[in-house]
Amino acid sequence: MSLRLKFNLILIVIFLLSLAGAAFYYNGYLEKNAINDVRSNSTVLMETALAIRSYTTDEIQPHLSPMNEKRFYPQTVPAFAATETLRRLRDKFPAYEYKEAMLNPTNPRDRATDWEKVLIEKFRADPTQTELTGIQGEGVQRAMYVARPIIIKQAQCLVCHSVPAAAPATMISVYGDKNGFDWKMNEPLGMQIVKLPMLYPLEKARETFNSFLISLLVTFALMFIALNVVLSGLVIEPMARMNKKLEELATKDFLTDLVNRRRFFEQLESAMAEARVKKTGLSIVMLDIDFFKRINDTFGHDSGDVVLKNTALRVRELLRGSDCAARFGGEEFVLMLRETRIDAALAIAEAVRGKISNVPFDLVGTVSASFGVAEWNLHEDGRALINRADKALYVAKQSGRNRVIRAEDEVL
Ligand code: GH3
Ligand code: MG
Ligand code: MG
Repeated sequence: MSLRLKFNLILIVIFLLSLAGAAFYYNGYLEKNAINDVRSNSTVLMETALAIRSYTTDEIQPHLSPMNEKRFYPQTVPAFAATETLRRLRDKFPAYEYKEAMLNPTNPRDRATDWEKVLIEKFRADPTQTELTGIQGEGVQRAMYVARPIIIKQAQCLVCHSVPAAAPATMISVYGDKNGFDWKMNEPLGMQIVKLPMLYPLEKARETFNSFLISLLVTFALMFIALNVVLSGLVIEPMARMNKKLEELATKDFLTDLVNRRRFFEQLESAMAEARVKKTGLSIVMLDIDFFKRINDTFGHDSGDVVLKNTALRVRELLRGSDCAARFGGEEFVLMLRETRIDAALAIAEAVRGKISNVPFDLVGTVSASFGVAEWNLHEDGRALINRADKALYVAKQSGRNRVIRAEDEVL
């Protein structure tokens, strides 16, 4: 796995973990905030209803009592006033609801629904309960409700709700004598309930959450790019350059610029594998400069170096891109010729020999070299092949130098 891939994987894992953590925390935080907002709005709505109720009791009833003999004005009843006023609020905010839900209402529209009855029963079962809140409905209908019990604490309120005979006739004429009687003091008879929509605040929270996530993603993407650029500039590219240098140090001969013995054997291994599959010929040529010691002794070591460099250049000029020339050691070279049978290899060796011995070298004049050539026979390894070529080279030296000798076929 490359360094960049590892680095990016770690970066992605860190990011995903922080993203999950931040998303989990922020989502909860925003949802809690949205619920708190709705909660405080519902309190305001509830308090508004109570303010309208007390205004009706304190400011309207002294002037216009529901007990009026001539005509019954439901507008003077606090519950009616609060319900009607807040009903108008619904013209602008249709999802906002206020209701005074009663088990046994005078006005039939105040009758509690089954769901509301359940809440009222909770107040009745536990008189210490002063408020119930919760979430009701699903999807668009999802709303927060706040309910408070309606308990008659003042005796004069019961005048209209004890028995029909005690109630003003004008009221009976409007609502009849069947409902809204037999109310008791100090017991929950119904509840005030406000409902506020949850959809909008939750949607707002979701939008905020989404833009938070997008900004986090954009930040990460920029960070990701920046870190990768930094990684490339400060680590990967310098490392690649260093690796290349190290590779060169490990595989190249710096005097002749040819590959060294180690790399030659690697190349030979892969060429043998290829030749085995393709069933093509593969030959090697060993060459050793004749009387090189004498050149060194006569013209100096530096001139000897120049001969080595020039020999390498001349060898290269005659090779194909797929061939490989290596400095095997001292003044000894080895050539690997892919897809080449022995006859072609002998011809190439002869060409190289001519190129070395026919054209004099600067300062030192004529130089020659001796050659041993062998074709790989599928059964031997690289070292055995080299040995055969080396033996042929030895024969070339022994038989007068400046010549090409074909190696003996391996005795199987
Ligand atoms: P032969 O024809 O039998 O090969 O004789 P030779 O003199 O070429 O062989 P010998 O092995 O006696 O000498 C090789 C010389 O090559 C000895 C060594 O000092 C020299 N040599 C080895 N490496 C280098 C090098 O990098 N630069 C130079 N200038 N000389 C080197
Ligand atoms: Mg020599
Ligand atoms: Mg030698």
